[in-house]
Amino acid sequence: MLTKNQIYEAIVTDYTAEGQGVAHVEGCAVFLPNAVAGERVRLRIEKAQKTWAAGKIVEILEKSPHRVNRECPVAKLCGGCDFWHMDYEEETRLKAQRVKTCLNRLAGESLTDVPILAAPDCHGYRNKAQYPVAAKEGRAYAGFFRAGTHDVVENRRCLILPEETDAVKDAVMDYVNQFRISVYDEATHKGLLRHIYVRRGAVSGQILVCLVCNGEKLPKVEALLSRLQKIPGFTTLVLSVNTKKGNAVLGERFVTLFGPGYIEDTLCGLTFRLSPRSFYQVNHHQAQRLYETAIALAGITKNDTVLDLYCGVGTITLAMASSAGKVIGVEVIPQAVEDAKDNAKRNGIENAEFFCGDAGQAALELERSGVRPDVVVVDPPRKGLNADTIEALSRMAPRRIVYVSCDPATLARDVAMLKQRGYALQSATAADLFPKCAHVETVVCLCRKEIRS
Ligand code: SAH
Repeated sequence: MLTKNQIYEAIVTDYTAEGQGVAHVEGCAVFLPNAVAGERVRLRIEKAQKTWAAGKIVEILEKSPHRVNRECPVAKLCGGCDFWHMDYEEETRLKAQRVKTCLNRLAGESLTDVPILAAPDCHGYRNKAQYPVAAKEGRAYAGFFRAGTHDVVENRRCLILPEETDAVKDAVMDYVNQFRISVYDEATHKGLLRHIYVRRGAVSGQILVCLVCNGEKLPKVEALLSRLQKIPGFTTLVLSVNTKKGNAVLGERFVTLFGPGYIEDTLCGLTFRLSPRSFYQVNHHQAQRLYETAIALAGITKNDTVLDLYCGVGTITLAMASSAGKVIGVEVIPQAVEDAKDNAKRNGIENAEFFCGDAGQAALELERSGVRPDVVVVDPPRKGLNADTIEALSRMAPRRIVYVSCDPATLARDVAMLKQRGYALQSATAADLFPKCAHVETVVCLCRKEIRS
């Protein structure tokens, strides 16, 4: 076991899933924030366990050519991004490498390379922000949580957000400070405003502002609206009531205070209605490329029935509808299903059906009722597929399964299970939807072995 506070010298060889550097000291893995692979560093042990330790770089002895000066002034404090200290070449290399390693180690593949769809722009790409608020010495401010804490790091201008989004935050905080609106304190469970949630359509420019409150009423709404209406694109103001303790940002209840309560955006040539509760990929340009890749991999023909599990507002489902005979989407959030149904209508799509429910259970029910999709698309949250979904997939035996994933480790675990049930991995592509952040998306195509089309 290494000793706390002791200084060691080591070489950074790899990265964790969270984007920290990994170095080895006396056979023990040491995790180092703000490290770049290939660097020789002096490090201090902050926390020592039997098989691993957490450390901090105290001096860089040999600097990587990929290290860059941080453009974001709060990058070191803010828990929002992970990679302002390295260039984009290294960032995309490590993301592609992570996908490859997961598939090779956990799914028994022997891929030599996984291509990555790199983002053309790392700035201003995020179409959604959730700012927690806090107060100190009588002044309220908003920002993002410091990594691993609930301390709010104030941030005037977040470089991965569009300027309009930060302008909304500033307008809300101006109103909060002028009218002495109380801000939520986790420790006492008192105070009104918890989070400022902003979603902006990358193409439409429409802005939805949702204030998450520990209460039912927002005072002086007119004064808030007069500030928000100065921001180009401001479309709707919604109150989300969250009176529960805990980490969930949004509450269960939504009250529309101004406008329609949703915004619209265009993606893959279709128009989508987006409610606050509905999932929508945060990087418009890269999401479109990801979906285009998924659609190409699906190899759909006009006679095919396509089942899209975890469909959200029906983005992938509806983008596939014109090439398919029929598309069916399944999603657990009722508001998202309402959006999806409305989106089908809005785009004049008549061969789409949507069901609200758990993906695995709905898929099993569809299978029992005789539905035999030719292609299944799955796009689950980080935890991946559950046993029901895997079971339903193997019973339905679609020709192809296109798996869109936001966690390469659970993806690889699920690919291994699908391989045991008669599927083979045909291709894997990583996509960078979150420049400067450690998350990476992947899309893979699995084919049923007897058919291999
Ligand atoms: N394919 C969509 C959404 C992907 S995000 C898009 O790209 O826009 C994953 C979606 O799965 C979310 O909308 C989430 O609400 C939904 N979800 C989470 N758990 C689920 C479950 N058990 N069953 C069905 N849907 C689920």
